[in-house]
Amino acid sequence: MKSIRNIGLVLFLVGFSIFIASLFIGKYSISEERLITLYDSTEEIDKGDTIVASLTKAAAEMGLIDKEFASQFTFSSKLTELFKKSNEFIANQFIVSDGITEEEKEDLIQISIESSRVVYSESSVSVVFPENKKKQKLVIDNTSWMFLENKEYETAADFKNDLGNKVNEINGKLGQEYFIWDNKYSRFDFVKASLIGPVSDRKGLFLLLTFGLCIIGSLMHILPGVVLMGGPGIKNDGIYHDASTNRGWIGILAFGFLFFFYVLLYFYPWLIVNWTSIVDPIKGLFVEGAVASQWFLYGLLYCVAMIVMGIRMFVKYRNNRYQIIRTCSVLFFQIVFAFLLVEILPLFDLPAMDLKNAWPLDFDMFFDWNVKGHLDSGTVGIFMFVWGIVLSVIVIPVMVYFYGKRWYCSWVCGCGGLAETLGDPYRQLSDKRLIAWKIERWMIYSVLVFAIIMTAFTGYHSYNEVINPNMAGSKDVLFGLSAYNIREWYGFLIGSIFAGVIGTGFYPILGNRAWCRFGCPLAAYMGLVQRFKSKFRITTNGGQCISCGNCSTYCEQGIDVRSYAQKGQNIVRASCVGCGVCSAVCPRGVLKLENGPNDNWSRVEEPVIIIGNDGMLEVSRIAPEVSEQ
Ligand code: SF4
Ligand code: SF4
Repeated sequence: MKSIRNIGLVLFLVGFSIFIASLFIGKYSISEERLITLYDSTEEIDKGDTIVASLTKAAAEMGLIDKEFASQFTFSSKLTELFKKSNEFIANQFIVSDGITEEEKEDLIQISIESSRVVYSESSVSVVFPENKKKQKLVIDNTSWMFLENKEYETAADFKNDLGNKVNEINGKLGQEYFIWDNKYSRFDFVKASLIGPVSDRKGLFLLLTFGLCIIGSLMHILPGVVLMGGPGIKNDGIYHDASTNRGWIGILAFGFLFFFYVLLYFYPWLIVNWTSIVDPIKGLFVEGAVASQWFLYGLLYCVAMIVMGIRMFVKYRNNRYQIIRTCSVLFFQIVFAFLLVEILPLFDLPAMDLKNAWPLDFDMFFDWNVKGHLDSGTVGIFMFVWGIVLSVIVIPVMVYFYGKRWYCSWVCGCGGLAETLGDPYRQLSDKRLIAWKIERWMIYSVLVFAIIMTAFTGYHSYNEVINPNMAGSKDVLFGLSAYNIREWYGFLIGSIFAGVIGTGFYPILGNRAWCRFGCPLAAYMGLVQRFKSKFRITTNGGQCISCGNCSTYCEQGIDVRSYAQKGQNIVRASCVGCGVCSAVCPRGVLKLENGPNDNWSRVEEPVIIIGNDGMLEVSRIAPEVSEQ
């Protein structure tokens, strides 16, 4: 069995090494055919043809056509200039037909200045554009305030300046819908379409060599555990002596990989196009011939990691029914709701919505594009949007009232699902110190406040865009602050850096629930309900506690469970996600996750009990009804 495990480990490492190496395999080259595939999918003469023509011209001018680049770094460094040139070509094309050219501007200036006096008028415009009524109207509409009867210029330079600014303004708006904006999405599409070589030619083979070997190797390493772990009992032996789980060198390497993976995924996706090419065949199962985006890659990796590590959970906690059912639940919600439905719904012209994702975790719920997307998708789209609100405002608090936030954090949520499967080996790394608890409370509720403010601003913006589109003034500015800027900052700081890079990247350093404990605004919202209005509590049979500390050690939320157990006190904490591992690892059956009456007395104020050889002793609080007698 041990040799099967070792072979599994070797296979995993080989698969993982090929996965990393595949980033550097292949070349990048621009050709007209590739540009047509990327931008011009129709036969008709349309926008795509203009974009392809201008990009081809710009690439040819820069000497890029059919030139091969060995790395995506050098290739992508050319893109800023390429897009800029292409956009200039498009703009110039539009200026000739719909704007004011340099020559036309000079003619206007020349005809409007007589012996240093500005005599600009409607007839000057007619002289410059005798036949072109469209341009006549354009110039008159935009510059009539500069006519002699409306404005007297003291110097010709002032007139030239005003006219120059106006012409720039008119020309600046032209052709923008044809521009390729230099952002991470257009870069990703462009670099991916330019990839040539073994990875793009043999995607199926690389899929087997990377995902295939990693999955087979992991399972060969995990499954013998059924035999090797022996009888019932959760085996965490040696966890603090293992370099992979005690922040040792393997843990640091894992952290390095996760950290860079998230940075590349969120901020530099065009550098990982090779990885997305490997999973194109799987994307093709949903839409024939479609290519995978970085988010498809992420969703697939997420599911694969959860399934493989979920199997590890089944092996490790095989004698604990709660853990097995809970793991099945998170796998189901991740695979069906967060991955399959998100891929399938757009096939029916519906928004790609994760139906279990609730506000404020789902922070873009009230963004204008999301609201419009749902409204434009008909009755089902509107129903999905309303469901999102009902889930957040009614279902979440009601369920937390009855079952605590565990129903979501440990049974449904994707972040929680990853933490409970991929993150399980790191749960003991959570910080148990009092200072961490203090930081936790300040931080998580600050994020909740930030999320509420951001939602208020984006809601105002979306309302104006959807209900009040003809309003005067800016639709996006409230109290002098731009809703767009606030949501961009929230998305960057909370959505990308906190939830992704820190939340998951730091598993091997901070433990598996850093995001859920310190940053998730939905956890903060549910935590408030759980703390003050819920039936959920962890009861403790203090008399049985031997103070071994297993419970505190494996509490991923950093709760010092033992201190409650020693006092025989119920654990009613806003941060408890009800994972049940404290109860599972307790050798004395002290802890029990329960839903009972929601009265403060039985839930929070129960008498603190110390057990000694002499039996039970009430030492602190007295039940109200007792003290009244
Ligand atoms: S107290 Fe127990 S159930 Fe709650 S988060 Fe900690 S380990 Fe999980
Ligand atoms: S694991 Fe059980 S016995 Fe050990 S300290 Fe916690 S409650 Fe007490």
